[in-house]
Amino acid sequence: MAQHQFQTEVSQLLHLIIHSLYSNREIFLRELISNASDALDKLKYLSVSDDAYKGISFDPRIDISFDREAKTLTIADNGIGMNEADLIDSLGTIARSGTKAFLEKLTADAKKDSNLIGQFGVGFYSAFMVAERIEVISRKAAEDTAWKWTSEGRDSFEIEASSRDTQGTTVILHLTEEGVEYTNRWSIEDIIKRYSNHVAFPIYLTYDEKEYDDKGKEKSSKTKTDRINSGTALWRRSKSELKEDDYIDFYKQEASKQFGGSSEEPLFYVHTKAEGTLEYITLFYIPAKAPFDMYNADYKPGVKLYVKRIFITDDDKELMPTWLRFVRGVIDSEDLPLNVSREILQQNKILINIKNASVKKLLSEFKALADNAASGSDAAKEKWETFISQYNRPLKEGLYQDYANRDALQDLVRFKSSTVEGWTSFAGYVSRMKSDQKHIYYITGGSEQTLKASPLLEAYTAKGIEVLIMDDEIDEIVIPSLFSYRKEVPGADGKTESQSWELKAINRAGADEELDAKKDKSAEKEIKPLIEKIKKALGDRVKDVKLSRRLHDSPSCIVADENDPSIQMAQMLRAMGQTEMPDVKPILEINGDHPIIVSLKNTADEERIADAAGVLLDQALLVEGLKLKDPADFVKRLNRLLSK
Ligand code: ADP
Repeated sequence: MAQHQFQTEVSQLLHLIIHSLYSNREIFLRELISNASDALDKLKYLSVSDDAYKGISFDPRIDISFDREAKTLTIADNGIGMNEADLIDSLGTIARSGTKAFLEKLTADAKKDSNLIGQFGVGFYSAFMVAERIEVISRKAAEDTAWKWTSEGRDSFEIEASSRDTQGTTVILHLTEEGVEYTNRWSIEDIIKRYSNHVAFPIYLTYDEKEYDDKGKEKSSKTKTDRINSGTALWRRSKSELKEDDYIDFYKQEASKQFGGSSEEPLFYVHTKAEGTLEYITLFYIPAKAPFDMYNADYKPGVKLYVKRIFITDDDKELMPTWLRFVRGVIDSEDLPLNVSREILQQNKILINIKNASVKKLLSEFKALADNAASGSDAAKEKWETFISQYNRPLKEGLYQDYANRDALQDLVRFKSSTVEGWTSFAGYVSRMKSDQKHIYYITGGSEQTLKASPLLEAYTAKGIEVLIMDDEIDEIVIPSLFSYRKEVPGADGKTESQSWELKAINRAGADEELDAKKDKSAEKEIKPLIEKIKKALGDRVKDVKLSRRLHDSPSCIVADENDPSIQMAQMLRAMGQTEMPDVKPILEINGDHPIIVSLKNTADEERIADAAGVLLDQALLVEGLKLKDPADFVKRLNRLLSK
């Protein structure tokens, strides 16, 4: 017998499981059944695809039994099984780095925490909520030796040689005082129906049926075995025989574990059956809340691939484009070969076609959701709001990555605006545009609050031009890559024609041409000497100094040169460690009508002009939420100006 230590994270997790996550204890059974079902899936697949397992013929099944006196509950499967190394690896460590995130996410709210268990794939360990000791006896398919893993769920586990008639795994739970309630036919049936009804393999429960005489004495006892689950793969049933509740139950109960979803109701679902050149079924769910790991590089993909009901993989990020990684569900194909490796899958024409069609289908559902919200009930509005609040950002990623679906995506993404409350679309912006306005204007690089307070907005606001407030970091990358928004509009002769509007960042040079075309040459000439002096005073802190057409109330502002990244972006990239990022210099614009500038024009005090130049630049940086490189210099100059 050999003793092994658990990986530190496992001990930590076990401690938590045993001490704080009691509220929803019964899910342990769902977790163990799901593991058994995965093990059966794996063997079923290998037995048709891998020569080493081809000889194995087996009737996949899961068996549950209990013994009230001995206080045990046993879950057995005849699936792939585990050998010694598998046991050490699978039941002694946690593979996914998401576990750290799990431990950080725990809220001390026991109910919520136990909901998290399923999502993080720490399933097996949840059995320690009801057991003080667990034995796992397992024999791997195509191997002769069986092994027994035993642990009390603290710091260590033991492994010794054992025996088992067939391949598969038997998990024996030695129940705690509270756990004994599960040695009861009715509660086990109840839990299985609730959580594991759709498991594709039969789940049997063995129990004793006792008869009593009128004095309450046991007359006879018969051992019976009943099948508990219905086991239809729900997505294979026709839409017409399924009710909304069936879909929701499937997602909540079975699927919540499978897809790493949550136990909440999904926002909506799409069930499609394709017939014709390609035959496949897809059932997709959009969770009401974005998956917790949506922004982790090692996120768990939410879509499972089946071929003719045989499970192929649930760990393939290629099944969906990355920007749709929040989608949960099933793809079940009739045409794919069973025997495909992951590398071949990724280039497989059939799968690529299924994937493309699925993306198109989902996009049209998203569009329907948006259209309903625009014309429909409060509930439809709320649904759309929820959708956008959770998934606006991945949709924007799509806009950047998925050129083929650009037109659909550009109508789904939403932004804040300088003139309307809540979210707006590009189409909404265009519909509000004045007839002579040529471009779509936007501002990036800060929080909604900073952006709305930016002096850059002043002249646009004064002229009644709407500006999109792009306060999401990703906007700064995505929007410039779009260049323009285009839309089909009704044209002559009932035909549609495509119209397009350039997207202009107002914190850039060149976005001001529509603002004040009348600004005459004489004003520029008149201010030139002052501009030269300011330029000289600021030296290489700025790229240029210009007379502004976009300022109304403020004396100065900064903009980025048309082809430079914005100053905020440059600061962000440097903070992220991009050291080769060149120092991007702003263009300083000054407001010729502002009293400060007017008085500077009329002074001969060179020191005052130099101090004012520094302060005009620094205040423009501050108001954009940027950090000053030399705050002491700013304060010194300001004080000198104040004391004059
Ligand atoms: P998860 O199922 O999310 O991977 P678990 O902690 O529930 O996490 O299980 C860890 C691993 O142990 C599984 O991935 C699987 O490799 C193995 N395992 C658990 N139960 C069984 C079983 N009944 N048969 C075969 N392998 C199993």
